Amino acid sequence: MMPLTAQDKEKILSYLETRLEPKVYDTWCRSLELEPAGDNAYRVPTANPFYRDWLEKLLRKPLEDAFSNLFGRTPDLVFQVNASPAFVEAPAGRSAAPAAALPATPEPPPVIPDFVYNPNYTFDNFIEGPSNRMGFAAAVAVSENPATLYNPLFIHGGVGLGKTHLLQAICHAILQRNPSAKVLYLSCEDFVNGYIYAIQKKTLEAFRSRYRNADVLVVDDIHFLADKEGSQEEFFHTFNALHMAGRQMILSSDQPAGDIRSLTQQLLSRFRSGFEARIMSPAYETRLAILRGKADARRVEVNQDVLGYIASIVETNIRELEGALTKVLGYAALAKRPVDLQLAQEVLRETPAPLPASLSIAEIQQAVARYFHKKVSDLHSRRWTKSTSQARQICIYLCRKFTGTSLEELGSHFGGKDHTTMLYSIRKVEKLLTKNASIRADVERLTREITGK
Ligand code: ADP
Ligand code: MG
Repeated sequence: MMPLTAQDKEKILSYLETRLEPKVYDTWCRSLELEPAGDNAYRVPTANPFYRDWLEKLLRKPLEDAFSNLFGRTPDLVFQVNASPAFVEAPAGRSAAPAAALPATPEPPPVIPDFVYNPNYTFDNFIEGPSNRMGFAAAVAVSENPATLYNPLFIHGGVGLGKTHLLQAICHAILQRNPSAKVLYLSCEDFVNGYIYAIQKKTLEAFRSRYRNADVLVVDDIHFLADKEGSQEEFFHTFNALHMAGRQMILSSDQPAGDIRSLTQQLLSRFRSGFEARIMSPAYETRLAILRGKADARRVEVNQDVLGYIASIVETNIRELEGALTKVLGYAALAKRPVDLQLAQEVLRETPAPLPASLSIAEIQQAVARYFHKKVSDLHSRRWTKSTSQARQICIYLCRKFTGTSLEELGSHFGGKDHTTMLYSIRKVEKLLTKNASIRADVERLTREITGK
């Protein structure tokens, strides 16, 4: 069997991307490898037995579908443990998974720290810019001199801005210098779940010693402690024990420590006792540099104008920036077209704007109804006065833009209309936006109201 070409692989990835949950896709498919293994067979290397079982369960069927739909054949897929660390973050709730293998250290026998990491999240792969310079510099400094300068290092910033990347880069760097360091990386959710489990099973002692023996404790998304008094208390003691023992702690949060809901004063003052670094949304130039880095990492040639276009329309979230590039490359491979500006525009024009957390169709409908002094039921009905139908069309447009719901599904939220009606409404509003200033003002005001910006 021939190795897959880069194009075939893009096709397979695009196929998987449309069929898997975004989180699953991001976590498990980005560094998926398919190695030819004899006649009509591919080997899928994995880092350890846990990943093998997990991946097989998750991906066998979608991968088989991908092959049969794209290439009209179904090869044998062999999921196998590899010697090298091939894989990425553990799925949510499983930081206690067997660790990925480490680079071999002949003497003494390798200590395997209990942390599962993404091999791509290194300092080398991190693009520095004004928006993240402080966090980056502090992260490097901590990795070079743990527990001397900034303790804890508290990195905060919005979703998809590189916090997890930096945290894991610190782990990589520390382990590279000192392979036997006990580096413990986990999400705060794992800490909370582990704590609850330990209470139920009466294994608190073991739970505590696990954390308190770490040389470096890295807890991602610490804002998850919001409103969880018991876990806060437990973490407070862990923190103190480690601090007293001179161990390094590194925390990330999507909010500044002071904004985490109902965080106790004592914990707040601990979080603030080290160094707080904020990561902001990158400016255009940094976004462009990041895209260039991602394209290079995939060894694909992409013109500057295409990258510039992507960087200009995806402004806040780097994960989405990457996603937009993936989409363009995937589409080009599927459509057998060159990756040029026109194609990028076609593909991304349909991209819904990023979804503000927890925005639902119902909330948008309420906001639009309130704004136009209608009832929500008017938006579902077939009533046709000009003002009602315009409010309905604007609502459909906004729902599509902010939730990215499929046209079919959207129809079901508007009194069971079909997808062509949805499409018609969206196009109508798009047209109005270009030539009617008062509609434009309405849509802008509504957008601000809906997104809270
Ligand atoms: P967060 O934890 O803040 O939500 P992540 O660390 O998961 O964000 O980053 C999302 C994606 O963006 C990852 O693929 C990461 O590699 C990438 N990324 C973020 N910041 C940078 C950067 N400065 N340089 C390169 N890649 C970045
Ligand atoms: Mg993260």
